Amino acid sequence: MRLVLLGAPGCGKGTQGQRLAQQYKIPEISTGDLLRQAVAAGTALGKAAKAVMDAGKLVSDDIVLGVIRERMKLPDARKGFILDGFPRNLAQAEQLDELFEELGQPIDLALLIEVEVDSILQRLLGRRTCTSCGASFNIFYAPPRMDDSCDYCGGRLKRRSDDNEETIGNRLRIFETQTLPVVERYREQSRLRVIQGIGDIEDVFKAVSKAIEEVKSTFGSRDRSAAIRRAVARKQKAVPATSAKTAAAKATAKAGKKSTAKAAKKAVKKKVQAKKKNATRPTTSKKKTVKKKAAAKKKVAKKSVVKKKAVAEKKTVARKTAVKKKAAKKKAGRKR
Ligand code: ADP
Repeated sequence: MRLVLLGAPGCGKGTQGQRLAQQYKIPEISTGDLLRQAVAAGTALGKAAKAVMDAGKLVSDDIVLGVIRERMKLPDARKGFILDGFPRNLAQAEQLDELFEELGQPIDLALLIEVEVDSILQRLLGRRTCTSCGASFNIFYAPPRMDDSCDYCGGRLKRRSDDNEETIGNRLRIFETQTLPVVERYREQSRLRVIQGIGDIEDVFKAVSKAIEEVKSTFGSRDRSAAIRRAVARKQKAVPATSAKTAAAKATAKAGKKSTAKAAKKAVKKKVQAKKKNATRPTTSKKKTVKKKAAAKKKVAKKSVVKKKAVAEKKTVARKTAVKKKAAKKKAGRKR
């Protein structure tokens, strides 16, 4: 079972998440707790997250996703998990879907725990937590017997550093602007159930458990693509090695055919293009013929010019002879 718990800060996600973890024997993974552990351990990640958390803002998606990814790799998360405080914005929700795709573990159900703002303020401002056993008290409506020590183990009670009015205001604003769109996303995907978080912790837990039991029969069948992938994987396993080889060979042959057909198509295209080019641009042999023709034409033209010249010359010579003859005749006549 893979659950996402959604709700404003102080709605009781943590409390209900821990109860569900006991009931279904799967871990409750709280990004808030994981980040607080990193802060307490003084790791580089913790140092980077502390100031952001104290301001009631969101730690960067990369850091949170890295934390979640690592946590979900642990063996206890194989059977399922309850996510508390993640995803908190649309980018985280999308990345979570991608991660689940990778792991083949889609979300089964998202539960939104609704509580009105006045109750939230009372819960957060009065919250005190035991530093040794984690037990939770509230100075307004569930006070410890002694102010600063745990009723169960005597450990020191502490107020969370981000449970002050200013930070709470920021956390509520971020829930409204960034997390409510995530709620809508799960609603659109028909994966959302809404629970009223007001009243006795036990009563809320009953309502939460009822919602889970009502849709539990559909778990696992919700992600169609994951179901298809699983079916394909099963089929592939069932196919004997030899027929798998044949199938692979067929696939390769088909791929080969495809590439040959592609090459042929390319060649035809090239030819057509070349033809088109030839139609507009003369080839060398065509060029040669054209040149020859031009040369021949020139020759003919030259010859006719020569001929014309010769004729003209002949004519001039004849005229000159005629003139000479005429002059000789005249001379002879005068002598006589
Ligand atoms: P609450 O839900 O009461 O605000 P949490 O314990 O879930 O408290 O978270 C405490 C703080 O840790 C948040 O205010 C935020 O700074 C950081 N945090 C927890 N989860 C995320 C998350 N998914 N993305 C970014 N920051 C987160």
